[in-house]
Amino acid sequence: MQALVDRIYGTLKARTGEGRVADYIPQLAKVDRDKFGIAIEMVDGTSFVAGDVDEPFSIQSVSKVFTLTLALGKIGDSLWARVGREPSGTPFNSIVQLEHERGIPRNPFINAGAIVVADVILAGHEPREAIGEILRFVRFLADDETISIDPAVARSETETGFRNAALANYMRSFGNIHHAVEKVLGVYFHHCAIAMSCRQLARAGLFLANGGRNPLTGFGVVSRERARRINALMLTCGHYDGSGDFAFRVGLPGKSGVGGGILVTVPGRASIAVWSPGLDANGNSRVGSLALEAIAQETGWSVFSR
Ligand code: GLN
Repeated sequence: MQALVDRIYGTLKARTGEGRVADYIPQLAKVDRDKFGIAIEMVDGTSFVAGDVDEPFSIQSVSKVFTLTLALGKIGDSLWARVGREPSGTPFNSIVQLEHERGIPRNPFINAGAIVVADVILAGHEPREAIGEILRFVRFLADDETISIDPAVARSETETGFRNAALANYMRSFGNIHHAVEKVLGVYFHHCAIAMSCRQLARAGLFLANGGRNPLTGFGVVSRERARRINALMLTCGHYDGSGDFAFRVGLPGKSGVGGGILVTVPGRASIAVWSPGLDANGNSRVGSLALEAIAQETGWSVFSR
């Protein structure tokens, strides 16, 4: 397995120059596009890694898996009255469907859906408490107290997040945002700005590969049924309008972020995190997806392979 990871890393390392690094904020634009890491954490505690696996990067939308898990823990399935469970077929920051669908976003992984999820987590708290709760939850999942939020990224998101502000205001006009828009966006921008390494991210996702329980710490995070459902949403909605293509090529539940990270669940076996900042047209890591495609092909791990 380690030889396989080394080989895939070696082959694709030469292609990290492909794609465009996210440049909507300067903090992401200045990330070195040649960074590349692959971390596979197996449910039995072994791991296989290659490249820049200990360097924290901006996890961006990958954080939406963790906030969804937290929000479901708070209000359970009543969340689904406010957020859908269908792939959107539109870009991650699209507003168009919200008009026809009366402020109910298609799924929790597009920006609009994640903003509703942030609104749920904010209930009964000040933004800093909600942000603290999300960060503590992610540290608990990864069993790592060193994980933090990059304040410069959070600040620039806040300064330039006009589209996200539009989404939040628009949904508020339909009554689907219950708190002040600035507060909700404060929570959203800060969880997008969580910085994690591939190794930390793969560990944080292990509960999804192991029926809801972190096999390394033994802590139950969610029920088996909930883990299965979160994985289903990652498979169908985790890559925005590239979700169908990701399922076709990789065939595993995955969630991408514009920082170039992708978190993948291999049910019953492993959690994988890859990082390569060059993005494709849908805002998903180009070389990261290629690495996952190669891993799925060579291991037969796709959920559709068996
Ligand atoms: N912070 C980014 C945004 O809100 C997250 C988007 C992403 O990773 N796709 O635009």
